[in-house]
Amino acid sequence: MRSDPTGTGSSGVGGGEPADATDPQLETIRPGQPTPGAVGRAGPGAHEGLADPGEVGRRQRHELWMRRALEVAVTGPAVDDANAADVDDVPVGAVLYGPDGTELAIGRNERELTGDPTGHAEVLALRRGAERAGRWRLDGCTLVVTLEPCTMCAGALVLARVSTVVFGAWEPKTGAAGSLWDVLRDRRLNHRPEVYGGVLEAETAAVLRAFFR
Ligand SMILES: [Zn+2]
Repeated sequence: MRSDPTGTGSSGVGGGEPADATDPQLETIRPGQPTPGAVGRAGPGAHEGLADPGEVGRRQRHELWMRRALEVAVTGPAVDDANAADVDDVPVGAVLYGPDGTELAIGRNERELTGDPTGHAEVLALRRGAERAGRWRLDGCTLVVTLEPCTMCAGALVLARVSTVVFGAWEPKTGAAGSLWDVLRDRRLNHRPEVYGGVLEAETAAVLRAFFR
């Protein structure tokens, strides 16, 4: 048993069981070991193999949001148009989340459906989200999309001042978020969103592969 380094002997630290089992100091000193007073409880992130619980929380949130984007990619927004069923658009889905995590808008690629060359999922989600928010500036928002954005969409994301971009599958042929270009993190631009790529990569890529098969 260590002696009290402060010499005060009043706090109880350094003698017997710690008063507060959730003391963050205890967890950083002995990562992965059971915390005294909480039997079977490992250190922060020990189960996930990560040291930072904040990182784990963020990853889980991104994966949850990506599942929603996948849902949008597969089902799309409800379309009444009878012709919609005949149209084969590449299944890419996007969801825009507000700073507090509320869903602001969704978009599914509808280039074939509407004959609009700019009808990509990201652009549609941004347009609808801005309309709903009543402003073009979407700082604090997160755009989640199942496929790495192209140059047009990456440019639109920068112009909309989106704070975070989360994408699924990499797109080596046209990707502008790290594959061919990195428009989102170009240091010459004065706004650069945070970028998280390859989230649920296997699932998002599988949806696209199934479409092109
Ligand atoms: Zn695009």
